[in-house]
Amino acid sequence: MKISELFYSIQGEGKRAGKPSFFIRTNHCNLRCQFAGGNLCDTAYTSWNPDDEKNIGDIPIERIIGEYIKYNCMDVVITGGEPSMFTEDLNLLCSELKRINPECVITIETNGTIFGKYVEYADLISISPKLKSSTPFATPYEKMHSNNRINLESFNQFNECKEKKIIDIQWKFVITSDEDLQEILNLQKEIGFKSKDVYLMPEGISEEELTLKRLNVIELCKKYQFNYTDRLHVIIWGNKRGV
Ligand code: SF4
Repeated sequence: MKISELFYSIQGEGKRAGKPSFFIRTNHCNLRCQFAGGNLCDTAYTSWNPDDEKNIGDIPIERIIGEYIKYNCMDVVITGGEPSMFTEDLNLLCSELKRINPECVITIETNGTIFGKYVEYADLISISPKLKSSTPFATPYEKMHSNNRINLESFNQFNECKEKKIIDIQWKFVITSDEDLQEILNLQKEIGFKSKDVYLMPEGISEEELTLKRLNVIELCKKYQFNYTDRLHVIIWGNKRGV
């Protein structure tokens, strides 16, 4: 499985924020986010520059499990990049984690564009659909990103799993400005996910940026009765790898 990094930290976002967690970050992504304002994706080393030389590379699942056993914590977060690009490996990885520790809580963080059998093995799917404000305008990736960032069929499949109580799901949106809200409301109308499962998060890769945007995002959460989530790892450590 192509891995960028393995590390032990706390979850910084969403409903399991604050939980000590073992992170498995896969390398490579099927999108190229560049947010309004100019920031690239905060893990550009897995998307824009997925250089296997600078990341861990292609390693057997046993080695990932071996690292996890060192910490044996309750929470495991599989993130990226886009982990669902490796669906077969993802199924195997999740089932091995559950075999080693049946009590572990597996969160898969995804942009939601590739639905897969892995939903049956995880406990929480954290879907972060990428809004128009993530488009890398005037770059070679603009068309690819615009064509791929929203997959309604996949989003509907995830939502059906939630409705059938097969899996817990949170919908997490990066907010760059008020203009993002209409797109979220349109998606909610189309897919039918519940407001109680929606988390809004300010876009930013420094504490200063988060501070500038935080209050506005909180007001939007109050107005639409969505949940607010901060980015604890950015506040605590800044835009660093391995945290
Ligand atoms: S989907 Fe996620 S990992 Fe991929 S480019 Fe966008 S922010 Fe980065």
